[in-house]
Amino acid sequence: MVAIVITGAAGRMGRSLIEAAMETTDAELMGGTVRSGSYLVGADAGEFIGKKNANAPIHDSLDAFCERRPVVIDFTSVDSTINHLSWCVGLGVPCVIGTTGFSIDQEKSISAAAKMIPVVYAPNFSVGVNVIFDLLDRAARVFGDAVDIEVIETHHRHKIDAPSGTALAIGRVIANALGRDLEATAVFGRDGQTGARPRDQIGFATVRGGDVVGEHTVLFAADGERVEITHKASNRRTFANGAVRSAVWASQQEPGLYSMRDVLSI
Ligand code: NAD
Repeated sequence: MVAIVITGAAGRMGRSLIEAAMETTDAELMGGTVRSGSYLVGADAGEFIGKKNANAPIHDSLDAFCERRPVVIDFTSVDSTINHLSWCVGLGVPCVIGTTGFSIDQEKSISAAAKMIPVVYAPNFSVGVNVIFDLLDRAARVFGDAVDIEVIETHHRHKIDAPSGTALAIGRVIANALGRDLEATAVFGRDGQTGARPRDQIGFATVRGGDVVGEHTVLFAADGERVEITHKASNRRTFANGAVRSAVWASQQEPGLYSMRDVLSI
């Protein structure tokens, strides 16, 4: 049975991941980690989320879990994720990364680690978003350069990076389909005397507020018609289930950098 450890167990995603790992029959929740000094050190992960005792202790270091060589699922923050990834490389165990907002150098560190261990790294672990990546690729190829393309994303007020990792991944899918370089074609917000919109822009707009789990709309706007493709996540369990599924899958892979699309075979 695959043993799973969840870093950042106290976070919004950490709690969902504990629940998903407890409910799956394909893996066993071994425990979780929190920041040093947290009142949760020594608590049981199952009891922490208001469920039965899961015999899954919460520690303030991954070192407490070496013995069973777990798969680590990490949805924390960029610097913490890079540290947790180094720990996984040291022990030679897989890592599933859901954190978003990495710099280019940090993404290079992830690629380097994936030469030594299996790493599943996805900005969005929901099945639905990975399905719309395919729909967007198809739509972009059919419309070509004949439409204006805008990506609009909405998240809860606590989200600390913008645009979302999923919005950027959407941008990359569309730019690849159109043979464009995303960095050259992307516009992140508009203000002031912007002038008319050039056709070859991919525009990004970010909305933050309340408890919105995550919504992404892509607008393909032509003269006389427009197509909108939208994904709405209403519960974090959709991401957590995908991450737990990825952890089980990763436990059987050779070292490499994988995406959720590899896990889903699409
Ligand atoms: P959050 O702030 O609620 O949770 C992060 C938790 O990690 C916090 O409890 C924090 O204390 C903890 N943490 C940070 N460093 C730690 C360390 N060194 N050791 C132990 N715990 C540590 O944030 P969240 O909403 O759960 O999101 C976390 C990340 O996941 C964000 O980057 C978010 O964008 C991303 N996310 C990704 C997906 C996806 O499908 N890939 C879905 C939702 C959120």
